Amino acid sequence: MTLADQTAQAGREARQITTYRPVDGEPVASYPVADAAQVGIAVTSARDGARWWREQGFAGRRAHLLRWKSHVALRARELADLIAAETGKPADDALLEVMLTLGHLDWAAKNAARVLRRRRVRAGLVNYNQHATVGYEPYGVVGVIGPWNYPLYTPMGSISYALAAGNAVVFKPSELTPGPAVWLAERWREAVGHDVLVAVTGDGATGAALVAADVDKVAFTGSTATAKKVMAAAAERLVPIVAECGGKDALLVAADADLDAAADFVVFGAMGNAGQTCVGVERVYVVETVRDALVSRVVERAGRLRTSGADAQYGPMTLPAQADVVRRHVEDAVRSGTAVLGGTESVHGRVIDPIVVTDVDEHSLAVRHETFGPLVVINTVTSLEEAVERANATPYGLGAAVFTKDARAASAAADALRAGVVTVNSVLGFAAVAALPFGGVKESGFGRIHGADGLREFSTVKSVARQTRKAALNLLTMDRTEKDMHLVARMIPLLHGRSKGSRG
Ligand code: NAD
Repeated sequence: MTLADQTAQAGREARQITTYRPVDGEPVASYPVADAAQVGIAVTSARDGARWWREQGFAGRRAHLLRWKSHVALRARELADLIAAETGKPADDALLEVMLTLGHLDWAAKNAARVLRRRRVRAGLVNYNQHATVGYEPYGVVGVIGPWNYPLYTPMGSISYALAAGNAVVFKPSELTPGPAVWLAERWREAVGHDVLVAVTGDGATGAALVAADVDKVAFTGSTATAKKVMAAAAERLVPIVAECGGKDALLVAADADLDAAADFVVFGAMGNAGQTCVGVERVYVVETVRDALVSRVVERAGRLRTSGADAQYGPMTLPAQADVVRRHVEDAVRSGTAVLGGTESVHGRVIDPIVVTDVDEHSLAVRHETFGPLVVINTVTSLEEAVERANATPYGLGAAVFTKDARAASAAADALRAGVVTVNSVLGFAAVAALPFGGVKESGFGRIHGADGLREFSTVKSVARQTRKAALNLLTMDRTEKDMHLVARMIPLLHGRSKGSRG
């Protein structure tokens, strides 16, 4: 019986989910599977919490969020161990995940007032008697649904910004990794006390119940297939969603690139976290003149990685079934391409050694679909322009990376890439920059977390126009005169008749 079957069976028998360490199959903990009624109770309590939270104002919320942050930070190792236990990733990777996450929480707490407080906008000459302002208000209760690959960093990209914007949150983590969610909610209770952050554990049905419950917005992170279901269900009540989904990120290498740096980043981006990263490097397009030099560097570096034992640099697949996906992609890739490191024999149960395949047919599974494992395809192109074209040719559009020393070429490629985030001469460099919004295009999703856009994502906009005096030409009346309309007729060509400024 596979681990997934065990988990499913445990859930069915006792309405509990038991998590197991991917590293050795030992049980970690059991959590209740919340049904629709229990989810409803959680949302109702969060709604009470939301009222209190809103009353705290920006300054109060900032103080509470920073206190919560310090409660988390002072026990960071404990949280990292929990993440590592349930995902199987090395403890140091988990600790870095905690650090990255707290950087975002800090930024969201400290910048919410600046970004979201009511601000004045110009009303324009004709509306000189209107004092116009824009304000951002919380939705109320946001339902956050998370994945298992970065069970802290990823959902907290929604939670931190939603809370800082004044919302309460009900968080449904992945059934594979409920531990960090429950732990975070405990720290919240200690640090703040009200039901502003509530965790509900369970499986897909629990997630579906949360979407159907009385939430005002849904922040979903997970696969594109599930996002479509979530969006359809949310449409029933016209509840808006932000969808952070899968990717098939490409890394582009120009002829003038620093090949050692590019190879380092290919290996880090493709193999780190066993390839289970939404913005991981899954494809490389390298210009033909440097192709061999890049491939040999990647193979040498990837071949040195340790995948088992206490000093393993990445762990086993968190989701057992993902190993089958990786195997199928490799089988398909080697039909057209050449395995220059590893192959199907690299898949040892849930532990998968690094696999590099070159010159793979562009229609193969490993080029078109998310692999989510330590497999990278390296294909050859004639130019950076062709690399961009191929990078854009999948249904996904999450991240992309360009390696070149030519700043102009880098910026042209960044402009042409259909992706939510582009890195130049690095990968994943944006993840720690809290001010940079994050999200995808096409089937990678829509909406943005992180940065000012992330705060606004979790806010509704309210415009206020305050009339400060009676207008000389009052058009907002049923008693408009002929003379008024005569003036309007003369004003239109004066105001809008000239095409000045239409060029460039
Ligand atoms: P998944 O879609 O299987 O599950 C995600 C979450 O949705 C889980 O909590 C699950 O219980 C819940 N769920 C399942 N069915 C549901 C339903 N009908 N209604 C509501 N919720 C439901 O994804 P996963 O396997 O947990 O995560 C891996 C995927 O997440 C990959 O595709 C990866 O690329 C993506 N991901 C994206 C980002 C990003 O920021 N873009 C970050 C991390 C992971």
